[in-house]
Amino acid sequence: MNKLAILGATGSIGTSSLDVVRAHRDRLEVVAVSAHRDWRKLAKICREFSPRVAILAEESLRDEVDTSQFPQETELQFGAEAITQTARASDIDTVIAAIVGAAGLASSYAAVDTGKRLAIANKETLVVAGPIIVERARQTGAELLPVDSEHSAIFQAMQAGSAQEVSKIILTSSGGPFREKSQEEIAVVTPEEALQHPTWEMGQKITIDSATMMNKALEIIEARWLFNLQSDQIEVVIHQQSFVHSMVEFIDGSVIAQMSPPDMRLPIQYALSYPHRWIAVAAKADFKKTFSLDFSPPDFERFPALKLGFDVASQGGTTGAVLNACNEVAVSRFLRRELSFYDIARLCRELLDRHNFIRKPTIEELMAQDKWARKETNLWKP
Ligand code: NDP
Ligand code: MG
Repeated sequence: MNKLAILGATGSIGTSSLDVVRAHRDRLEVVAVSAHRDWRKLAKICREFSPRVAILAEESLRDEVDTSQFPQETELQFGAEAITQTARASDIDTVIAAIVGAAGLASSYAAVDTGKRLAIANKETLVVAGPIIVERARQTGAELLPVDSEHSAIFQAMQAGSAQEVSKIILTSSGGPFREKSQEEIAVVTPEEALQHPTWEMGQKITIDSATMMNKALEIIEARWLFNLQSDQIEVVIHQQSFVHSMVEFIDGSVIAQMSPPDMRLPIQYALSYPHRWIAVAAKADFKKTFSLDFSPPDFERFPALKLGFDVASQGGTTGAVLNACNEVAVSRFLRRELSFYDIARLCRELLDRHNFIRKPTIEELMAQDKWARKETNLWKP
């Protein structure tokens, strides 16, 4: 039995992860689950999966929660520190990191620090502290398995050759809901329009990130650290069907792609089943139907966030922490209609230029930059 902690169990990735568990009850057991505030959904999950522990990050909910909704066998805990402690618990083999944002960093670090398998959807952790997480995993023998569909695809395609034989990777992007819009049209989009993703159904933050293409920027940085690549070994291609999840080009010119209909349950399952493969939970491709796949280069003018990803991937140091924190706050301000769509990337660029760069920061120094960038982004007036 693979004993799981699903951190962020109430979200989009959490929900898909639970579906994978439902399909493989003979191999997977849910020992711990967490959420931020949604205790009703967390209680429902607990009634179905009977985990040992359930945690709500929001301490102030302590007096509000109806504990009778949780089953007897589940201990309910509160606070971010309880989530981190659970990620360290010895009765857990695999932590699924499905919390959104830098809030997932401490528990992801705890999982690698204690030598567990970390199935990581929480890309922000790698954007903020990629080198530290990867290095700690190497020291403890923890396995870092990507859940992000592009990175799962690359991880799978990489197995066709050795690391030295990889010449570059090509990250695919659906292009988001504004793929066809002009710069003038994009400048005035509303949160409602930005929340309509053409191919994926995901949490709010990553949906906005997909519209700005900041998601791809974060994925460039994620790939840089996960696969130990230089930024000039990473390319982005627009592929609207989201069928090819990414590709690896080897030195001989062969390009290996991983393809499947868009469904996060496949990369989640692979992060749990690796090095094996299990029977699919997600629908399979149907090649008896006629369909075509399109690829085109991205437009850096209409999507300025993309360049930020390449710049941060090549600069490293504290830039990832600043970019991520600024983006998290700017996205929530955009959703509250306090910022325009292009303010998000504009503000990230400004803070990257202004911040106090450190080349080899500690976790504490990264957290200090994260705090600074959040404060500056909150104060910023368009
Ligand atoms: P959701 O917003 O759907 O879910 C986020 C989860 O994290 C919820 O369980 C939420 O709890 C919890 N959470 C939110 N804030 C905090 C906090 N401060 N402390 C502790 N827990 C918190 O996000 P997604 O599932 O879409 O995304 C999760 C991660 O996976 C992100 O990093 C995203 O980039 C990545 N990812 C997502 C993909 C997708 O298809 N959705 C694809 C690839 C990567 P509550 O419900 O109580 O708010
Ligand atoms: Mg992705």
